[in-house]
Amino acid sequence: MDCGLLGSVFRYDDGVVSELLGVYGGGLCRFLEAVHRPSRRLYIRVNTLRVDPGELLDRLRSRGLEVYRDELFDEALYFVVEGPFRIDEEGPVVVADKEAAESVMMGANLYAPGLLSCDPSIRRGSEVVIKAPSGVVVARGIARMSCSEARRRGRGLFVEVLQSLYRAPKLRELPEYQQGLFYPQSLPAIATTRVLDPAPGEVVVDMCAAPGGKTGHVVELSRGLAKVVAVDHSRRKVRRLREELARLGHLRYVEVVEGDSRYIHLDMPGLRADKILVDPPCTALGVRPKVYDEKTWRDLVNAAAYQEQFVRAAAKILRMGGVLVYSTCTVTHVENELLIEGTALGECLEPVDTGLPGAWSRGSTGSYRGMYTRFHPHIHDTPGYFIARLVKKC
Ligand code: SAH
Repeated sequence: MDCGLLGSVFRYDDGVVSELLGVYGGGLCRFLEAVHRPSRRLYIRVNTLRVDPGELLDRLRSRGLEVYRDELFDEALYFVVEGPFRIDEEGPVVVADKEAAESVMMGANLYAPGLLSCDPSIRRGSEVVIKAPSGVVVARGIARMSCSEARRRGRGLFVEVLQSLYRAPKLRELPEYQQGLFYPQSLPAIATTRVLDPAPGEVVVDMCAAPGGKTGHVVELSRGLAKVVAVDHSRRKVRRLREELARLGHLRYVEVVEGDSRYIHLDMPGLRADKILVDPPCTALGVRPKVYDEKTWRDLVNAAAYQEQFVRAAAKILRMGGVLVYSTCTVTHVENELLIEGTALGECLEPVDTGLPGAWSRGSTGSYRGMYTRFHPHIHDTPGYFIARLVKKC
């Protein structure tokens, strides 16, 4: 496949490439180009338990921000991402790690923990170029400490960014963010909890909950009147989950559980759920923007083997007629359609229509492909994303 980004920005082995070709065929290059850059729209979800979406819109606009209402979901607002801008590549170089480079690329400042390496000539006040580990220039700015100081201290502001490849509002610095009036979340992620459709009085289990984007949305859609159980196995991430829920004012509506949800049926034997969300770790091939990425066929197979265990455990605690929503931010068949059809059917879980508009795509393989929703970066300008809705039939 002749595609400039393959091999340089996207280091995928033959197995991954052939899987992606199976999904996108001749559209693969356009898919990769889209994933390499951010979506034009940067979405937030309004915390409707605290503020009306129209009111938050007015408040953000009065700060001079360009913000709009989503056409479909009332609680979704979006900002317009500007760029790409040309960046002058002259000057001493700072290399940021992948995660830092991806936020610097959008206009965030570079903090010392995100530093991989820097030119020793850099002093406080030097004008520097920030690159991703792949060599892509993502921004320019002024060093606020010397290279050696940044390395020694390992914390604090290192480069104040003046020019970045793209520009988006710094959401976490807004007072409305601190006040818990919104949660930054992609459109497909917002759509996922809409598909789950949690209602007052229901028992809702979020099996892979941290940092709590979807858990928070469950609380809002059920107006705090559902019994919500949010599980995550990582202590650090459970802390993040509690912090996010506390910021939104939702902590009192959620039972937060630190545990391995693959064994939830054994650890919480009395638990019977009306609705379950399985949003497991995945290869994240649909997440954007990506300054570079590296994946092997083994990664895909391992991810699928792990994902399968959540679906099997979920089936054991879901009541008859209950709904399981499975979502991933990846685009492979093995982690999506094939995972569902290879696992869920044997557990009496039958795919039903997600109910989302047909303007988004249906699944691209499997007997139930018409039931699934897929978001394609190069077609819908969203992250690459998959949603399935399953009903327990026996
Ligand atoms: N649903 C979240 C994102 C989930 S990312 C949101 O919308 O914000 C996947 C999560 O699964 C990670 O936080 C990870 O810690 C968690 N996870 C991974 N393995 C797990 C396991 N065995 N049991 C419970 N959680 C697990």
